[in-house]
Amino acid sequence: MSNYQYLFGPIPSRRLGISLGVDLVPHKVCTIDCVYCECGATSTLTTDRKEYVPRAKVQAELAEFLAIKPQLDCITFSGAGEPTLNSEIGALIQWIQREYPAYTLVVLTNGTLLHLPTVRREIASLDIVKISVDAVAPALFTEINRPAASLTVSAMMEGIQQFCSECTGKIWLEHFLIPGKNTDEASLHQLGTYLQTLTAEKLQLNTLDRPAPESWVTPADAVTVRMAQEILQSYLSYPVENVSKVDTTYTFSDKTTPIETLICNYISRRPMTLQDLQQTTGKDEKELHAVLEKLSQEELIFSRTEQRGIFYETRKNNGTKE
Ligand code: SF4
Repeated sequence: MSNYQYLFGPIPSRRLGISLGVDLVPHKVCTIDCVYCECGATSTLTTDRKEYVPRAKVQAELAEFLAIKPQLDCITFSGAGEPTLNSEIGALIQWIQREYPAYTLVVLTNGTLLHLPTVRREIASLDIVKISVDAVAPALFTEINRPAASLTVSAMMEGIQQFCSECTGKIWLEHFLIPGKNTDEASLHQLGTYLQTLTAEKLQLNTLDRPAPESWVTPADAVTVRMAQEILQSYLSYPVENVSKVDTTYTFSDKTTPIETLICNYISRRPMTLQDLQQTTGKDEKELHAVLEKLSQEELIFSRTEQRGIFYETRKNNGTKE
C-alpha cells in the first residue's frame, strides 16, 4: 500500500473483515465537528458538495490496487471527513459495482446530508451504510456535533428516517457515548424513541478509544455502556451491540510495503498506539518500536500520551477552523 493518495489500509476489522479505506475528502472536510473525532478538529466545516478529490484519480488508484487481487473483503468510504460531501460518490459507487462486484461496499456517514434526495439516491445501493447518531435534542446535537450553520437536527433525523426506508442494503447505526453529555437516562430514552422509528439491522455503541480534539471527552465506563445498552434495547427490535473495544480478531499482513510507509499510511488517518499498529500490521513489536523512534526523531510523526497509552500521528493536534 505505497504511494496511494486516496486509499488507506487495508484495515482488519472484526465487523467488516479486511477493509480497504477510500478517502473522498481531504483531511478534514466535514459537515460537523464532533468533540470526539479521532481524526482531529474539522478544518473545513461545510455542507457544499463538490468533487473534493478527483474521481478519475480514485478510480485509477483502485484499479491499480485491485489488479494485484489483494486479500480483501470490502471497500469502505470513510477517512478523515464526511464522504457524502463528494458529489462524485454516486458515480464512483456505480463504477465499483460494475467493475468489482465481488467486494462489499460500505460507507461510514454522519447522516447530516441524508435530507438531500440526491445523496440518498447516490448511496442507496451500497451493501452497508453505517450512520452515526449521537444526539437528537437540538442543544445536545450542537454541543456534541458542532454542525455547519445550515444544518438542523430535525432535518437530519427526517433524512435518516427517509433513507432507512429507501436503502436496499443493510443499515448499521452507531451511537457514541460521551459521559456527562449523552449518557443520562433522559437523553437515552429520547434517543431510543427516535431510533425505534428507523429500520436498521443493528445499533452499535461506541466510546472514546483514541485522543479527542476536546480533552474533556472521556471514555464511558462498562457500567454506563451496559446501562445505555439496556435502555436502548428496550426500545428496539434490532440488537444493540457494544463495540467499544479494539478489534482483535483479524490481522492484515502486508509483506511488500516498507514498514515506514505502512505506519505513516495508517496513522495519517487516525492516531494509533504501538499495540494498535502491532495488531493491525502483524509486525514485530521491537521492529515497530525502532521505526516509530526513527520517524519521531526525523519529525515525520508525533506522539502524545493519553489514557490508553502513547498515540502516534502524522500531524500535531492543532486543527483550526477556516
Ligand atoms: S462526522 Fe466523523 S469525520 Fe466528521 S467530525 Fe464527526 S467523527 Fe469526525
